[in-house]
Amino acid sequence: MHSGLSSPALEAVSEAIDQLDAEYVSFVSGAELRELQRLQDRLAAQQARRLAAFDRDRGFTANGSCSTVAWLRWNCKLSNGAARTRVSVARQVGNLPETSAAFARGDITYAHVAGICRTADQLGTEAVAGAEWILLPAARELNAGKFGYVTSYLRHTLDPDGALEDANENRRWTYVHLSETWKGIWELDGRLDPEMGATLQTALNALMPKPTPDDARFPSQRRAEALVELARRQLNGGDLPQVAGVKPHLSMITTVETLRREPGAPPADLEWGPPVHMETARRIACDSSLTPVVVDSDGELLDYGRKRRTLPPALRRVLVVRDRGCAWPGCDRPAAWTSGHHLKHWADGGPTNKENTALLCGHHHWLCHEGGWHLERGLDDRLVARPP
Ligand SMILES: [Zn+2]
Ligand SMILES: [Zn+2]
Repeated sequence: MHSGLSSPALEAVSEAIDQLDAEYVSFVSGAELRELQRLQDRLAAQQARRLAAFDRDRGFTANGSCSTVAWLRWNCKLSNGAARTRVSVARQVGNLPETSAAFARGDITYAHVAGICRTADQLGTEAVAGAEWILLPAARELNAGKFGYVTSYLRHTLDPDGALEDANENRRWTYVHLSETWKGIWELDGRLDPEMGATLQTALNALMPKPTPDDARFPSQRRAEALVELARRQLNGGDLPQVAGVKPHLSMITTVETLRREPGAPPADLEWGPPVHMETARRIACDSSLTPVVVDSDGELLDYGRKRRTLPPALRRVLVVRDRGCAWPGCDRPAAWTSGHHLKHWADGGPTNKENTALLCGHHHWLCHEGGWHLERGLDDRLVARPP
């Protein structure tokens, strides 16, 4: 028996939970899980009712706490934010009749009630009580995240000045940290306001096509590549403002030996960054508007003109008609997403012509170089990809 509970009802709930715990769990229906969620919310409603009385009677003073929030932090081990939300709900919900009733029945979740009460803190209880007829049907319909839009909408309507203050506060706290770590890995983190986040998200989504079945990358990895692709397109498009009188441009310094993968050849040097692997150098140099600066072992500049390295527009048009998009077997990324790949690298003497080149999307181009895959033409002229 659980001791120390003065309420027989609490004892009964506790016993019922023991029974649930003793049940053998095999097949579980969705209805059962939904009911458990509802019961949790109903219990939260009962806690809120009692916390309201505890707060009103300053029950926290009994053990020397200075507020209900501090009492909850210490005795219920809640974070400060969670404790403040509990108190906000306890103080507001009793004055919002429809919300209280729906909460007690478990028709709306604790998260929805917390959103409504936070709005009451901001707009005043009376204003929110007057809007319950809008809020309650929305709370029953929408998940807690989407419901946040509804309360935010109400705030914008009833308190545009407060909403503007919040928005300006959000904008003040935006930042992006981009730092190179000791290994040459870059770390990126940041915080964007709603408009900035939505803008970036829209651009990244446009550069994140549906993954092909053989694409094992996590969405986060595909997003990272999309972000870099966004930057690369801007650099290649040449629309960026000039820096120190020249168009911003990333260059790579490398040697012929590196591009030919000769034993003992040095890695390539990327502007702003650490040395890059020779396979990466070969991919970058394969067909890119990034200009590889090729030097010999004495550092003398060797000229490999654009003709030799990059696909001339006429050839690219031929490849677009032939390959349609990425030429990797099974890949359906469109031609706009591709660059040219030399089946035999130009640094190894491969010509830049129709037979020796194919269009590849960024992911498959990577597989062909750093990934160690080998792409070649089979007997029937179709491309065959061989794993490393
Ligand atoms: Zn290539
Ligand atoms: Zn592809």
